[in-house]
Amino acid sequence: MNTLRVAGGRVLRPDFSVARADVLLDQDAGEILDVGDMDAGDETLDAAGCLVMPGLVNAHTHAAMTLLRGYADDKPLESWLQEDIWPAEAELTAEDVRAGTELALVEMIRGGVTAFADMYFEEPTVADAVAEAGVRARLGHGVVTVGKDDDAARADNEESLAFAREYDGYADGRVKTVYAPHSLTTVDDDLLAEFTAEAREAGVPLHFHANETQGEVDPIVDAEGERPLAHADGLGLLTGDDFLAHGVHVDDEEIDILAERGTAVVHCPASNMKLASGMAPVQRMREAGVTVALGTDGAASNNDLDVFDELRDAAMLGKLAADDAAAVPAEAAVEMATAGGADALGFDSGRIEAGANADLAVVDFDVPHLTPVHDHVSHLAYAVRGSDVRHTVCDGRVLMEDRDLVTLDEGEIRGRAADRAADLAERAD
Ligand SMILES: [Zn+2]
Repeated sequence: MNTLRVAGGRVLRPDFSVARADVLLDQDAGEILDVGDMDAGDETLDAAGCLVMPGLVNAHTHAAMTLLRGYADDKPLESWLQEDIWPAEAELTAEDVRAGTELALVEMIRGGVTAFADMYFEEPTVADAVAEAGVRARLGHGVVTVGKDDDAARADNEESLAFAREYDGYADGRVKTVYAPHSLTTVDDDLLAEFTAEAREAGVPLHFHANETQGEVDPIVDAEGERPLAHADGLGLLTGDDFLAHGVHVDDEEIDILAERGTAVVHCPASNMKLASGMAPVQRMREAGVTVALGTDGAASNNDLDVFDELRDAAMLGKLAADDAAAVPAEAAVEMATAGGADALGFDSGRIEAGANADLAVVDFDVPHLTPVHDHVSHLAYAVRGSDVRHTVCDGRVLMEDRDLVTLDEGEIRGRAADRAADLAERAD
């Protein structure tokens, strides 16, 4: 057994206490062996002056959209998608998706992210990029059936399910999969029900967008006479293994349905603010017992993949939404970005305890904007930036050491992504 000791730092424990301790990792099993005072370990990773925390989870993104970062801004969701994003995405090749995903992986590893959920196209190439980068991911081919004939609509659903079946467990088990219908308004109901039933039989969970804007809620209420999540529940879309992105416009009854079914919500505060989608009732969802995770959404609506930004936005927007400064406190924000995300995605990560996945972010607190330290958790929510992460470890393997990436060639990836993004913008023009 090869072991690595993350030594000399303070450790954020699952109860949000912080104590001076080392963390011993089994690098072969990819698990945390022990937390405490020790001198074991074949190798050590220096964490002096640092806080060792669970790796962050970006529970909803479209990784390759890094190529469209800053491509179109300052528009509401519908016109932004229809006038800018979808026409550009229609031009995407597998090589573009690979380049954009690798850029996203560079950015996420540099910000302490060890797991993410992706919903996009060309997912086999995303799976290969994840395998090489060394992170963990829950991947799904996003299905849209509006504007497609019956055969094309069916084929898109089939592709999503086929990918989910084939790639679950890929990259030594670091890749898990989902059936990923884009949303309740962009996929035909009959196909949604049919393929969800097939996904259940195959043991494949669901990841979809829901209740993101009022404009997405109203047509469902008009057509079905019920709220979107009551409708989704009727179609069999909400189980304890599933997670939905956004959940901005949800009423109390829908929150109760989510709590009862155990379906997780991925809150994307920056995207919701930028597209003026609204304020998700995060405090109410948490009080009702709903698992809430955090996501950046795609880089085109954020415009970065820094989950520490998301943490701060979640705490601050949660207070505005509840009209209460005590709502979504620092601890809740940190929980959503770690254990909440891991629970939503079905990974045994997000907590530093023996037996959990060895997924860690080591944050350097020895900097001016984190001085003094009255409360480590407060800093994680309100003052830490992604660039404060010194080391990133996933599955017991060091992916970034002293800000240097170990598995990816950052310079080459940035250059290729910039070239491909310029080509893509020209083709889409
Ligand atoms: Zn999204």
